[in-house]
Parts: sequence; C-alpha cells; structure tokens
Amino acid sequence: MGLLDTRIIGVKTRDVKIGNFYPEEFACKCCGKVMILSDLWQAIQLIRNTAMRPVIINSAYRCPPHNAEIGGSEGSDHIHGFAADIHVPGLTADEVGEIAARLSETIKRIGVYMNQDFVHIGVRNRGPGTWRAWRYDETGELSYIKPEQVTE
Ligand SMILES: [Zn+2]
Ligand SMILES: [Zn+2]
Repeated sequence: MGLLDTRIIGVKTRDVKIGNFYPEEFACKCCGKVMILSDLWQAIQLIRNTAMRPVIINSAYRCPPHNAEIGGSEGSDHIHGFAADIHVPGLTADEVGEIAARLSETIKRIGVYMNQDFVHIGVRNRGPGTWRAWRYDETGELSYIKPEQVTE
C-alpha cells in the first residue's frame, strides 16, 4: 500500500504539518475529526504550488451528522475524506478551477461555485472516463462542464 492509498486520520492538532498544511485545516468543523485521503492533501498542495498563493480550506472532512446538518448530499465525497472546498484569496473560483483542471491525474471532480467563491475538489477515482466538472455562475445558475449531473 503506497502513500496514495493512505488515509490521514487523527484529531484536530497543530503538532504536525504536512507540506503547507496542518491536519486541522482538513478537520470536521463540528467534532474536529480528521479523515482525509493523502491524495486529497497532495491535490491541495499541488494547487497551492501552482497558484503560488495560500489555499484556504473552507470544508474538507465532514462526519456524517455534520454533513447532514449542512445539507450535504448523502453520498458526498466529504464524508469519506475524498473532497475539500477551497478558496484561494486573490483568485476567482474559475481561476482555481482552471488550475485544478490541469491536475486531472489527481483531481477527479471539480465544482466551481462563482456564486459562493469556492471550488469543490474531489479525488475519488471512479475509473476511466469518470472525470466530472460543474460550475455555478454568479447568479447561481448551474452548468455541467462534463455531462453527468452530479454535485457534491
Ligand atoms: Zn463532525
Ligand atoms: Zn464540496
């Protein structure tokens, strides 16, 4: 089992730092639990390296009760540690989405939310041809960059 299969599991802590991020930045907002795939950390780090700017993680791991509370979908990648919603100060969500789209080896789902100024980054690999992207414009109108109608 290589690094890419590893889950980073723990509780909210600033005792360790991996690259530019503390695990607590990926923690569930309600309970502080951290469960993320190392692929996800790697994806966020790649975005940071490409953008050459700090990345703010709005929401990464969500325990199932917290995910339900905020109205996240039941099958959300957030509850399995496969996804993070991020914001890069100084860049629009479209610009962050463009960076993420260039990292399709690691990043398999991109949701651009121009209306809420964040980008959903998902790393769960569902197999060949399953790369997906969607976009909400400033008025909240949804369009699919790839056709399958999935949002998370
Ligand atoms: Zn929680
Ligand atoms: Zn998300």
